[in-house]
Amino acid sequence: MLPYGRQWIDADDERAVLAALRSDWLTTGPLVPEFEGRFAEAVGARHAVAVSSGTAALHVAAAALGIGEGDEVIIPAMTFAATANCVVYQGGTPVFADVDPATLLVDVDSVAAKITDRTKAIIAVDYAGQPCAYDELAELARDRGISLAADAAHALGARYKDVPVGAVARLTTFSLHPVKHITTGEGGMITTADDALAQRMRTFRNHGITTEHRERETWFYEMVSLGYNYRLTDFQSALGISQLRKLPAWLKRRQAIARQYDDAFTGNPVVSPLSRTPGATHSYHLYVIRLNLDELATDRAAVFRGLRDDGIGVNVHYVPVHLHPYYRERFGTRAGMCPRAEAAYEQILSLPIFPRMTEDDVARVIEAVMKITSAR
Ligand SMILES: *Cc1c(COP(=O)(O)O)cnc(C)c1O
Repeated sequence: MLPYGRQWIDADDERAVLAALRSDWLTTGPLVPEFEGRFAEAVGARHAVAVSSGTAALHVAAAALGIGEGDEVIIPAMTFAATANCVVYQGGTPVFADVDPATLLVDVDSVAAKITDRTKAIIAVDYAGQPCAYDELAELARDRGISLAADAAHALGARYKDVPVGAVARLTTFSLHPVKHITTGEGGMITTADDALAQRMRTFRNHGITTEHRERETWFYEMVSLGYNYRLTDFQSALGISQLRKLPAWLKRRQAIARQYDDAFTGNPVVSPLSRTPGATHSYHLYVIRLNLDELATDRAAVFRGLRDDGIGVNVHYVPVHLHPYYRERFGTRAGMCPRAEAAYEQILSLPIFPRMTEDDVARVIEAVMKITSAR
Protein backbone atom coordinates (compact mmCIF):
# COMPACT_ATOMS: atom_id res chain seq x y z
CA MET A 1 0.00 0.00 0.00
CA LEU A 2 1.34 3.37 -1.05
CA PRO A 3 0.65 5.60 2.00
CA TYR A 4 -0.48 9.25 1.72
CA GLY A 5 2.67 10.36 3.53
CA ARG A 6 5.84 8.73 4.76
CA GLN A 7 9.16 9.63 6.37
CA TRP A 8 12.55 9.20 4.68
CA ILE A 9 15.36 8.06 6.98
CA ASP A 10 18.85 7.66 5.49
CA ALA A 11 22.19 6.38 6.77
CA ASP A 12 23.25 9.92 7.74
CA ASP A 13 20.14 10.28 9.93
CA GLU A 14 21.00 6.98 11.61
CA ARG A 15 24.58 8.06 12.21
CA ALA A 16 23.46 11.36 13.74
CA VAL A 17 21.05 9.65 16.15
CA LEU A 18 23.61 7.01 17.10
CA ALA A 19 26.21 9.67 17.88
CA ALA A 20 23.68 11.43 20.14
CA LEU A 21 22.83 8.16 21.89
CA ARG A 22 26.52 7.62 22.61
CA SER A 23 27.03 11.14 23.93
CA ASP A 24 26.66 12.37 27.52
CA TRP A 25 23.28 13.93 26.88
CA LEU A 26 20.15 12.05 25.97
CA THR A 27 17.97 15.05 26.79
CA THR A 28 18.38 18.75 27.67
CA GLY A 29 21.84 18.75 26.11
CA PRO A 30 23.49 20.83 23.40
CA LEU A 31 21.64 19.41 20.38
CA VAL A 32 18.29 20.90 21.42
CA PRO A 33 19.41 24.55 21.14
CA GLU A 34 21.40 23.67 18.02
CA PHE A 35 18.28 22.25 16.36
CA GLU A 36 16.26 25.27 17.52
CA GLY A 37 18.82 27.65 16.04
CA ARG A 38 18.89 25.91 12.69
CA PHE A 39 15.11 25.64 12.56
CA ALA A 40 14.73 29.34 13.39
CA GLU A 41 17.18 30.19 10.63
CA ALA A 42 15.34 27.96 8.13
CA VAL A 43 12.06 29.83 8.67
CA GLY A 44 13.53 33.29 9.23
CA ALA A 45 12.34 33.46 12.85
CA ARG A 46 14.11 35.05 15.81
CA HIS A 47 13.29 32.20 18.20
CA ALA A 48 12.37 28.54 17.84
CA VAL A 49 11.31 26.47 20.86
CA ALA A 50 11.48 22.67 20.48
CA VAL A 51 8.81 20.55 22.15
CA SER A 52 7.69 16.93 22.22
CA SER A 53 4.91 17.10 19.58
CA GLY A 54 2.96 19.43 17.33
CA THR A 55 0.12 19.17 19.82
CA ALA A 56 2.43 20.23 22.67
CA ALA A 57 3.51 23.13 20.43
CA LEU A 58 -0.11 24.23 20.14
CA HIS A 59 -0.66 23.94 23.90
CA VAL A 60 2.50 25.94 24.59
CA ALA A 61 1.35 28.59 22.09
CA ALA A 62 -2.14 28.80 23.61
CA ALA A 63 -0.63 29.23 27.08
CA ALA A 64 1.87 31.85 25.88
CA LEU A 65 -0.97 33.84 24.34
CA GLY A 66 -2.65 33.86 27.75
CA ILE A 67 -5.68 31.83 26.68
CA GLY A 68 -7.66 31.01 29.81
CA GLU A 69 -11.07 30.28 31.27
CA GLY A 70 -13.87 31.93 29.28
CA ASP A 71 -11.68 33.03 26.36
CA GLU A 72 -12.77 32.28 22.82
CA VAL A 73 -10.29 31.37 20.08
CA ILE A 74 -11.31 31.24 16.44
CA ILE A 75 -10.02 28.31 14.41
CA PRO A 76 -11.02 26.88 11.03
CA ALA A 77 -13.45 23.94 11.07
CA MET A 78 -11.32 22.13 8.48
CA THR A 79 -8.31 21.06 10.55
CA PHE A 80 -6.99 18.33 12.80
CA ALA A 81 -8.66 18.17 16.23
CA ALA A 82 -5.44 19.25 18.00
CA THR A 83 -5.85 22.84 16.73
CA ALA A 84 -9.05 23.11 18.75
CA ASN A 85 -7.99 20.89 21.65
CA CYS A 86 -5.17 23.24 22.70
CA VAL A 87 -7.77 25.92 23.43
CA VAL A 88 -9.75 23.49 25.60
CA TYR A 89 -6.57 22.46 27.51
CA GLN A 90 -6.39 26.07 28.67
CA GLY A 91 -10.05 26.27 29.66
CA GLY A 92 -11.03 28.28 26.60
CA THR A 93 -13.70 27.75 23.95
CA PRO A 94 -12.83 27.08 20.31
CA VAL A 95 -15.11 28.90 17.89
CA PHE A 96 -15.20 27.38 14.41
CA ALA A 97 -14.91 29.55 11.31
CA ASP A 98 -15.87 28.29 7.87
CA VAL A 99 -13.46 27.88 4.95
CA ASP A 100 -13.12 29.14 1.41
CA PRO A 101 -14.51 26.32 -0.77
CA ALA A 102 -11.83 26.74 -3.44
CA THR A 103 -8.79 26.44 -1.13
CA LEU A 104 -10.24 25.10 2.14
CA LEU A 105 -8.28 27.85 3.90
CA VAL A 106 -10.02 29.77 6.67
CA ASP A 107 -12.41 32.40 5.28
CA VAL A 108 -11.56 35.86 6.62
CA ASP A 109 -15.18 37.09 6.55
CA SER A 110 -16.28 34.07 8.53
CA VAL A 111 -13.55 34.79 11.10
CA ALA A 112 -14.65 38.43 11.33
CA ALA A 113 -18.27 37.38 11.85
CA LYS A 114 -17.32 35.14 14.78
CA ILE A 115 -15.33 37.69 16.79
CA THR A 116 -16.97 38.67 20.09
CA ASP A 117 -15.89 40.57 23.23
CA ARG A 118 -14.47 37.30 24.52
CA THR A 119 -12.30 36.51 21.48
CA LYS A 120 -8.65 36.41 22.48
CA ALA A 121 -6.94 34.99 19.41
CA ILE A 122 -7.20 33.46 15.94
CA ILE A 123 -5.29 30.28 15.15
CA ALA A 124 -5.02 30.06 11.36
CA VAL A 125 -4.15 26.77 9.63
CA ASP A 126 -2.14 26.56 6.42
CA TYR A 127 -4.28 23.73 5.15
CA ALA A 128 -2.41 21.20 2.98
CA GLY A 129 0.68 23.46 3.05
CA GLN A 130 -0.76 26.60 1.46
CA PRO A 131 -0.42 29.80 3.51
CA CYS A 132 -3.71 31.46 4.45
CA ALA A 133 -4.58 35.13 3.88
CA TYR A 134 -2.20 36.43 6.54
CA ASP A 135 -2.34 40.13 5.58
CA GLU A 136 -6.12 40.19 5.91
CA LEU A 137 -6.08 38.09 9.09
CA ALA A 138 -3.34 40.24 10.66
CA GLU A 139 -5.26 43.42 9.86
CA LEU A 140 -8.42 41.98 11.38
CA ALA A 141 -6.52 40.85 14.49
CA ARG A 142 -4.90 44.28 14.84
CA ASP A 143 -8.22 46.13 14.43
CA ARG A 144 -9.92 43.98 17.04
CA GLY A 145 -6.98 43.83 19.46
CA ILE A 146 -6.52 40.06 19.36
CA SER A 147 -3.54 37.80 18.63
CA LEU A 148 -2.87 35.91 15.42
CA ALA A 149 -1.18 32.53 15.73
CA ALA A 150 -0.67 29.90 13.05
CA ASP A 151 -0.84 26.13 13.14
CA ALA A 152 1.68 25.46 10.36
CA ALA A 153 1.88 21.70 10.90
CA HIS A 154 1.34 21.39 7.12
CA ALA A 155 3.46 24.31 6.02
CA LEU A 156 7.14 23.96 6.90
CA GLY A 157 8.93 25.53 3.93
CA ALA A 158 5.89 27.41 2.61
CA ARG A 159 6.17 31.16 1.95
CA TYR A 160 3.65 33.98 2.10
CA LYS A 161 4.58 36.91 -0.18
CA ASP A 162 8.14 35.62 0.03
CA VAL A 163 8.19 35.55 3.84
CA PRO A 164 8.65 32.02 5.21
CA VAL A 165 5.77 30.62 7.25
CA GLY A 166 7.17 30.78 10.76
CA ALA A 167 8.04 34.46 10.45
CA VAL A 168 4.56 35.73 9.52
CA ALA A 169 2.25 35.28 12.53
CA ARG A 170 3.02 36.28 16.14
CA LEU A 171 3.45 32.59 17.01
CA THR A 172 3.70 29.68 14.59
CA THR A 173 3.58 25.99 15.51
CA PHE A 174 5.00 23.04 13.56
CA SER A 175 4.75 19.25 13.86
CA LEU A 176 7.65 16.86 13.34
CA HIS A 177 5.50 13.72 13.08
CA PRO A 178 6.66 11.20 10.41
CA VAL A 179 3.99 12.22 7.87
CA LYS A 180 5.06 15.89 8.02
CA HIS A 181 7.89 17.52 6.03
CA ILE A 182 10.70 16.48 8.36
CA THR A 183 10.50 14.23 11.40
CA THR A 184 11.93 13.58 14.85
CA GLY A 185 9.56 10.64 15.45
CA GLU A 186 7.32 12.77 17.62
CA GLY A 187 8.21 16.43 17.96
CA GLY A 188 7.12 19.99 17.48
CA MET A 189 8.43 23.54 17.27
CA ILE A 190 7.08 27.01 17.97
CA THR A 191 8.61 30.09 16.33
CA THR A 192 8.23 33.75 17.25
CA ALA A 193 9.99 37.08 16.98
CA ASP A 194 8.92 38.03 20.51
CA ASP A 195 11.61 37.57 23.22
CA ALA A 196 9.17 37.53 26.13
CA LEU A 197 6.88 34.98 24.48
CA ALA A 198 9.85 32.74 23.69
CA GLN A 199 10.97 32.87 27.33
CA ARG A 200 7.47 32.07 28.56
CA MET A 201 7.30 29.09 26.21
CA ARG A 202 10.66 27.68 27.34
CA THR A 203 9.45 27.87 30.94
CA PHE A 204 6.10 26.26 30.12
CA ARG A 205 7.70 23.25 28.39
CA ASN A 206 9.81 22.60 31.49
CA HIS A 207 7.32 22.46 34.41
CA GLY A 208 7.16 26.26 34.74
CA ILE A 209 10.73 26.24 36.04
CA THR A 210 12.79 29.26 35.09
CA THR A 211 16.24 27.77 34.53
CA GLU A 212 16.76 24.55 32.69
CA HIS A 213 18.91 21.82 34.21
CA ARG A 214 21.90 22.35 31.93
CA GLU A 215 22.15 26.02 32.85
CA ARG A 216 21.92 25.51 36.60
CA GLU A 217 25.09 26.13 38.46
CA THR A 218 23.62 25.64 41.87
CA TRP A 219 20.91 23.52 43.43
CA PHE A 220 18.51 26.43 43.33
CA TYR A 221 15.63 26.77 40.88
CA GLU A 222 12.15 28.18 41.03
CA MET A 223 8.84 27.06 39.64
CA VAL A 224 7.10 30.31 38.77
CA SER A 225 4.06 29.04 36.90
CA LEU A 226 2.32 25.77 36.13
CA GLY A 227 4.06 24.02 33.26
CA TYR A 228 4.45 20.58 31.74
CA ASN A 229 7.23 18.29 30.58
CA TYR A 230 7.07 18.94 26.84
CA ARG A 231 10.83 18.64 26.22
CA LEU A 232 12.32 17.17 23.04
CA THR A 233 15.30 14.80 23.52
CA ASP A 234 18.82 15.28 22.18
CA PHE A 235 18.66 12.19 19.97
CA GLN A 236 15.45 13.49 18.45
CA SER A 237 17.13 16.85 17.91
CA ALA A 238 20.03 15.05 16.19
CA LEU A 239 17.50 13.53 13.79
CA GLY A 240 15.83 16.90 13.30
CA ILE A 241 19.14 18.61 12.43
CA SER A 242 19.94 15.90 9.90
CA GLN A 243 16.43 15.97 8.39
CA LEU A 244 16.35 19.77 8.13
CA ARG A 245 19.30 19.68 5.68
CA LYS A 246 17.11 17.79 3.23
CA LEU A 247 14.11 20.11 3.45
CA PRO A 248 14.91 22.24 0.35
CA ALA A 249 15.27 19.19 -1.92
CA TRP A 250 12.22 17.50 -0.43
CA LEU A 251 10.09 20.61 -0.97
CA LYS A 252 11.08 20.64 -4.64
CA ARG A 253 10.14 16.99 -4.94
CA ARG A 254 6.74 17.54 -3.30
CA GLN A 255 6.09 20.49 -5.62
CA ALA A 256 7.09 18.44 -8.69
CA ILE A 257 4.70 15.63 -7.73
CA ALA A 258 1.92 18.20 -7.20
CA ARG A 259 2.57 19.64 -10.68
CA GLN A 260 2.19 16.18 -12.21
CA TYR A 261 -1.12 15.72 -10.40
CA ASP A 262 -2.25 19.23 -11.44
CA ASP A 263 -1.44 18.47 -15.08
CA ALA A 264 -3.25 15.15 -14.95
CA PHE A 265 -6.44 16.44 -13.32
CA THR A 266 -6.86 19.95 -14.72
CA GLY A 267 -9.98 20.03 -16.86
CA ASN A 268 -11.22 16.71 -15.50
CA PRO A 269 -15.01 16.92 -14.98
CA VAL A 270 -14.95 14.69 -11.89
CA VAL A 271 -11.66 15.42 -10.13
CA SER A 272 -10.59 18.97 -9.20
CA PRO A 273 -7.40 19.97 -7.44
CA LEU A 274 -7.82 22.70 -4.81
CA SER A 275 -7.13 26.26 -5.97
CA ARG A 276 -3.77 27.93 -5.50
CA THR A 277 -3.58 31.40 -4.01
CA PRO A 278 -1.41 33.92 -5.83
CA GLY A 279 1.76 35.18 -4.15
CA ALA A 280 2.21 32.12 -1.95
CA THR A 281 4.54 29.13 -2.15
CA HIS A 282 2.73 25.90 -1.34
CA SER A 283 4.72 23.26 0.56
CA TYR A 284 2.32 20.38 -0.26
CA HIS A 285 2.10 18.42 2.94
CA LEU A 286 -1.12 17.13 1.36
CA TYR A 287 -2.40 16.92 -2.19
CA VAL A 288 -6.17 17.17 -1.88
CA ILE A 289 -8.67 16.55 -4.67
CA ARG A 290 -12.38 17.30 -4.65
CA LEU A 291 -14.76 14.90 -6.34
CA ASN A 292 -17.65 16.34 -8.32
CA LEU A 293 -20.23 13.93 -6.90
CA ASP A 294 -22.89 14.97 -9.44
CA GLU A 295 -20.72 13.60 -12.25
CA LEU A 296 -19.95 10.38 -10.43
CA ALA A 297 -22.06 7.20 -10.51
CA THR A 298 -20.70 6.18 -7.11
CA ASP A 299 -19.92 8.15 -3.95
CA ARG A 300 -16.73 9.24 -2.20
CA ALA A 301 -16.72 6.14 0.01
CA ALA A 302 -16.70 3.89 -3.07
CA VAL A 303 -13.85 5.86 -4.65
CA PHE A 304 -11.95 5.69 -1.35
CA ARG A 305 -12.45 1.91 -1.11
CA GLY A 306 -11.63 1.35 -4.78
CA LEU A 307 -8.34 3.23 -4.51
CA ARG A 308 -7.42 1.43 -1.29
CA ASP A 309 -8.17 -1.90 -3.02
CA ASP A 310 -5.79 -0.76 -5.76
CA GLY A 311 -3.03 -0.20 -3.16
CA ILE A 312 -3.36 3.60 -3.16
CA GLY A 313 -3.45 4.74 0.49
CA VAL A 314 -5.78 7.71 0.11
CA ASN A 315 -7.07 9.47 3.21
CA VAL A 316 -9.57 12.18 4.17
CA HIS A 317 -8.32 15.38 5.84
CA TYR A 318 -10.46 16.17 7.80
CA VAL A 319 -13.71 15.43 9.52
CA PRO A 320 -14.65 19.04 10.41
CA VAL A 321 -13.74 19.42 14.08
CA HIS A 322 -17.13 20.80 15.18
CA LEU A 323 -18.77 17.54 14.05
CA HIS A 324 -16.80 15.34 16.45
CA PRO A 325 -18.94 13.94 19.31
CA TYR A 326 -16.73 15.56 21.96
CA TYR A 327 -17.30 19.05 20.56
CA ARG A 328 -21.01 18.46 19.93
CA GLU A 329 -21.52 17.25 23.50
CA ARG A 330 -19.28 19.67 25.34
CA PHE A 331 -19.73 22.83 23.26
CA GLY A 332 -23.06 22.21 21.51
CA THR A 333 -21.61 22.44 17.99
CA ARG A 334 -23.61 20.79 15.19
CA ALA A 335 -23.95 20.25 11.46
CA GLY A 336 -24.91 23.43 9.63
CA MET A 337 -22.51 25.68 11.56
CA CYS A 338 -19.80 25.63 8.86
CA PRO A 339 -21.64 24.53 5.71
CA ARG A 340 -18.75 24.96 3.27
CA ALA A 341 -16.35 22.85 5.37
CA GLU A 342 -19.10 20.25 5.79
CA ALA A 343 -19.82 20.11 2.05
CA ALA A 344 -16.10 19.85 1.23
CA TYR A 345 -15.70 17.03 3.73
CA GLU A 346 -18.06 14.87 1.64
CA GLN A 347 -15.94 15.38 -1.48
CA ILE A 348 -12.25 15.42 -0.53
CA LEU A 349 -9.52 12.82 -0.82
CA SER A 350 -5.82 13.20 -0.03
CA LEU A 351 -3.61 11.44 -2.59
CA PRO A 352 -0.16 10.06 -1.71
CA ILE A 353 2.56 12.74 -1.75
CA PHE A 354 5.96 12.37 -0.12
CA PRO A 355 9.53 12.92 -1.35
CA ARG A 356 10.46 9.28 -1.70
CA MET A 357 7.62 8.51 -4.15
CA THR A 358 8.97 7.32 -7.49
CA GLU A 359 7.81 8.39 -10.94
CA ASP A 360 6.13 4.99 -11.20
CA ASP A 361 4.27 5.59 -7.95
CA VAL A 362 2.96 8.95 -9.21
CA ALA A 363 1.88 7.42 -12.53
CA ARG A 364 0.17 4.59 -10.70
CA VAL A 365 -1.84 7.02 -8.53
CA ILE A 366 -2.92 9.07 -11.55
CA GLU A 367 -3.93 5.97 -13.49
CA ALA A 368 -5.91 4.54 -10.56
CA VAL A 369 -7.76 7.84 -9.95
CA MET A 370 -8.55 8.20 -13.67
CA LYS A 371 -9.83 4.64 -13.90
CA ILE A 372 -12.12 4.77 -10.89
CA THR A 373 -13.52 8.22 -11.60
CA SER A 374 -14.26 7.55 -15.26
CA ALA A 375 -16.56 4.64 -14.38
CA ARG A 376 -19.93 6.40 -14.50
C1 LIG B 1 -0.10 16.92 12.57
C2 LIG B 1 -0.94 18.05 13.01
C3 LIG B 1 -1.01 18.48 14.35
C4 LIG B 1 -0.47 17.69 15.51
O1 LIG B 1 0.85 17.39 15.44
P1 LIG B 1 1.44 16.16 16.30
O2 LIG B 1 2.92 16.32 16.12
O3 LIG B 1 0.91 14.90 15.67
O4 LIG B 1 1.01 16.31 17.70
C5 LIG B 1 -1.72 19.64 14.64
N1 LIG B 1 -2.35 20.32 13.68
C6 LIG B 1 -2.35 19.93 12.39
C7 LIG B 1 -3.06 20.76 11.38
C8 LIG B 1 -1.66 18.77 12.02
O5 LIG B 1 -1.68 18.37 10.75
